[in-house]
Amino acid sequence: MSVSDRVIIAGAGPVGSITALALVQKGIPVLQLEALAETPTAHRAATTHSSTLDLLDGIGMSAAVIEQGLKARHFQYRYRETNEVFAEFDFQRLEGETNHPYAVQLEQHKTVAIAQNMLKAFSHFELKREHNIVALENGTDQVRVTSETPDGAKHDFTARYIIGCDGGRSFVRKSQGIDFPGFTWEERFIIVASLFDYEKADKYRYRNYIADPDQWCSVFKIPGPDGKGMWRNLFPVIGNDPEEVVTSEAWIRARLDYCFPYARDTEIIHRNLYTVHQRVAAAFRKGRALLAGDSAHINNPLGGMGMNSGIADGLNLAEKLVKVWRGEADDSIFDVYDRQRRPLAQKYVQAQSIQNKETLQAADKAKANARFEELRKTADDPKRHKAFLMNSSLINMAREAAAIT
Ligand SMILES: Cc1cc2nc3c(=O)[nH]c(=O)nc-3n(C[C@H](O)[C@H](O)[C@H](O)COP(=O)(O)OP(=O)(O)OC[C@H]3O[C@@H](n4cnc5c(N)ncnc54)[C@H](O)[C@@H]3O)c2cc1C
Repeated sequence: MSVSDRVIIAGAGPVGSITALALVQKGIPVLQLEALAETPTAHRAATTHSSTLDLLDGIGMSAAVIEQGLKARHFQYRYRETNEVFAEFDFQRLEGETNHPYAVQLEQHKTVAIAQNMLKAFSHFELKREHNIVALENGTDQVRVTSETPDGAKHDFTARYIIGCDGGRSFVRKSQGIDFPGFTWEERFIIVASLFDYEKADKYRYRNYIADPDQWCSVFKIPGPDGKGMWRNLFPVIGNDPEEVVTSEAWIRARLDYCFPYARDTEIIHRNLYTVHQRVAAAFRKGRALLAGDSAHINNPLGGMGMNSGIADGLNLAEKLVKVWRGEADDSIFDVYDRQRRPLAQKYVQAQSIQNKETLQAADKAKANARFEELRKTADDPKRHKAFLMNSSLINMAREAAAIT
C-alpha cells in the first residue's frame, strides 16, 4: 500500500470520528487530522435521534450510546406564561419504523469518545492531534494536505480523498472556494447547565420546549459528568449586550426567574454563548474533496438536527467510498451523495429548525395561538402525531435520500 492509498478525514468531532469508524471497519485506511489536543467538552449536541441510532446499529456503536445516555421517549411543549403543556409527543408511536422508538440524550463529546475508543482496534487507522490543516491541493489522482503543529512545523500528507468534517468554519470547504450561503440569526443563544431537577419539580420530560414571544427557551436532561443527570437551558440573547454581561450571574438568574421561578436558587455550573447560523454549502463535493457534517450545513440547535444529519452524511459517504475503493463504482457516485444529502439538508434540517424556532418565539398573539393550536392538534391526532415524529427524528429524510439515484 502506498501512503496515498488512504482517506484523510479533517476533524475528529462526531462526524469525522464516526465516518472514520465506518471506513476502517470496511478495510479502508484512514488518517484523521485534528487541530485540537482534546475533544472539547463544551455543551453542544445532546440528542441522538432514532434514525441515527439505526445507522449506528450498522457500525456496532448504538449499544454504547444507549448505555451511557438517557432514553428520552417523550418531548413536550409548554406556554411560558401559564406553564401549561399544550403538546406532548411520544416516540413510541414510531414502533415498527425504527429499531429505536426513542431519542437518546448523550453529550456529543461522549459520542466522540465511544467512536475513538472503537477506532483504537484498527491498525490501519491513525489519529494525529494538534495537526491544523492549513493547505489542500485537490489533484487529479490524489490530494495533498499540509498541517501545522504547535511548534510551527509543517507536515505533508497525501491521500486518495479528503473528507472535510472540520466544522462550520471548515478549512476544506473554504480552500475549495465552495460558497456557504444562508444567514446568521441576530440573536445569540446561551446554554446554561445546572443540577436543578426539572422532572422532580414540575414533571418535565427529558426534552422540553417553552414558548414565549420574548424569552422562549428549552430544557433538556443530559447524563452529566458523573452520569447522575444534569439539566440544560437554552435561551435566546436578544440585543447587543457584551458577552461578560449576558454570561453574568445576574443576567442568567433573570432568565431563569422569568421562565422557571422555582429554579431560582439553583447553582449554575456551566454557561456558553453561541452565534447561530443557517447555511448549506453550495456543493458537498469538489473533485477529491468531500464535505460532511457542519462543514456542509449548519443550523440552530432546536430539534437537535445538526449532528444527527451530519452523521447520516458521513455514513452515506462512507458507503459510497467503500464501493469506489472496491472498484464497484466510479467516483461519479459522489455526485449522488451531493444529490441525496444537499437538497434534503435544506428541505428537512433547515426548514424544520427554522420552524421550530418560529413556533417558540411567535410574537403576534393571534399567530402564536394558531401555531400552538396546530401543534396541539398534531399531538392529539394519532396519524399527524406519527407523521410529525417521522420528520423530527429524520427518518423521512433518510428514506427520501435513499430513494434518490
Ligand atoms: C448549543 C448547541 C446544541 C446542539 N444540540 C444538538 C443536538 O442536540 N443534536 C444535534 O444533532 N446537533 C446539535 N448541535 C449541533 C452539533 O453540535 C453539530 O452539528 C456537530 O458538532 C457537528 O459535528 P462535526 O463533527 O461536523 O463538527 P464539529 O463538532 O465542529 O467538529 C469539527 C472538528 O474539526 C476540527 N477542525 C476544525 N478545523 C480544522 C482544521 N483546519 N484542521 C484540523 N481539524 C480541524 C475541530 O477542532 C473539531 O474537532 C448543537 C449545537 C450547539 C452549538
